[in-house]
Amino acid sequence: MNPIRRALLSVSDKTGLLELAKNLAAQNVELIASGGTAKALTEAGLKVTAVETLSGKGEAFNGRMKTISFEIASSLLFRRQDENDVRQAAELGIEPIDLVVVNLYPFHATLQKQAGFEECIENIDIGGPTLLRAGAKNFHSVTVLCDPSQYSEFLKEFNGNNGSTTWEFRQKCAAAVYTMTAFYDMAIAGFLTQNSGAALRYGENPHQKAVVLKDPFADGLAHAKSLQGKEMSYNNYLDADFALKTLQDVHRWQGEKALPAAVVVKHNTPCGMAVAETPLRALEKAWKGDEKSSFGGIIALNVPVTEDIAAFFAEKFVEVILAPSFTEGAREKLKKNCRVMEVSLKPNPSMQVRSIEGGLLLQDADGFDLSHMKTVTQKQVSPEQQRLAAFAMLAVKNLKSNAIALCRQDGPEFELLTMGSGQTNRIDCIEKLITSRLADKGITDLTGVVLASDAFFPFADSIQVSAKLGVQTIIQPGGSVKDPEVIAEADRLGVSMIFTGRRHFLH
Ligand code: 5GP
Repeated sequence: MNPIRRALLSVSDKTGLLELAKNLAAQNVELIASGGTAKALTEAGLKVTAVETLSGKGEAFNGRMKTISFEIASSLLFRRQDENDVRQAAELGIEPIDLVVVNLYPFHATLQKQAGFEECIENIDIGGPTLLRAGAKNFHSVTVLCDPSQYSEFLKEFNGNNGSTTWEFRQKCAAAVYTMTAFYDMAIAGFLTQNSGAALRYGENPHQKAVVLKDPFADGLAHAKSLQGKEMSYNNYLDADFALKTLQDVHRWQGEKALPAAVVVKHNTPCGMAVAETPLRALEKAWKGDEKSSFGGIIALNVPVTEDIAAFFAEKFVEVILAPSFTEGAREKLKKNCRVMEVSLKPNPSMQVRSIEGGLLLQDADGFDLSHMKTVTQKQVSPEQQRLAAFAMLAVKNLKSNAIALCRQDGPEFELLTMGSGQTNRIDCIEKLITSRLADKGITDLTGVVLASDAFFPFADSIQVSAKLGVQTIIQPGGSVKDPEVIAEADRLGVSMIFTGRRHFLH
């Protein structure tokens, strides 16, 4: 890239500004600046071009208009590598700006000091994001800095590349800009949503404020239609999300002629799930997955809810029912305070976003793929049992790690018999949770049952405990250094085992 010749500076936080500007000036970079920034630079003895020299107009509306102008945006946006753009820029008298240094009005800090509504609104920066986003789009030729913490790295680049920057640096800076403006806008969206009365009643606990921000580029639960019942709470949304994702998984796995499927979720954990020939049987089996926990649960079904399905809930307390549709009769039959949500079974895939302190984690959805499934033991697995194994893997995929699921089959019907999830080690899932839950349910015969694990077994102990319970078939991802030992133990105990090659941690 050509050396930086002209820089536009417009900063609210003036930390590090002078050192940066002095370095630029020392290399003969022209400094263009908005009101307050220009004043700070001039006072330090630097030569500055006032931004109105380019825009043709001074500040207006008490600072709401400072830099927004055809001329300035054009200086940032026109493609230096495109002949037509270059010719047009020359005709219009537009000179390139190669560096943008902007940080925004302190909207977050204004919120944090609990300023009044008007002051918050005035602290929504408009021109700043415009400059940054324009420069970032044209990072092919423009360097954009949106935070003083970037200045020292920039100066290293600038001084080490004959007054220019590298493509990699500019791209990284452009990404930083869009990340920053996304968070900035999210804070504004949260503030206005709270103020418009569209907030949730509260967050996870009554003293926490909360809103749902719907991604307009996605579909799924956040966009589901609420037909009746109390308002969805923060926790309802979290649990409903688990129920729906699990249901969508089961529905997708079944393919074209999907049988009715039902999922029961309690506290982010699918504690019951079943596929059956009728919706009522699916519901009954899912409900009995963990009857103790199903009370107050969230139910998801892949079939329209009719009156007789609604009758199932007559004597039961459930928080939310999710299904593709509900008949009029069903809606009348369902308790008035039960939340009823119409949901899509095949939403467009969307990124998964989780929050950590000070940021967000983004990842693709955890896709299900059993094309690398293979039996690794001497004892083989029948095709029918392979289908049950797939269902078990699907169940365990949706359980919090570490997780173990026990599933059984009856002809074309599948159910989650019991599970252990959210444990800090794998063996406890089987030894403590599953063992006691099976005893609770009075189940002693595990013939035909498949055990699935979300990740590999690090030791052979889980195989021993499972075999002792009567498990004869296991499905797991494999991939442990102890795999040979685990397989040998399964062979010794006459257990068949499938490896899938795909781990399904859910933290
Ligand atoms: P200064 O202190 O230089 O007068 O203003 C710097 C601040 O103004 C920066 O935070 C920058 O993002 C913001 N800014 C720049 N241009 C505009 C504009 O046209 N409108 C608004 N509202 N803010 C702007």
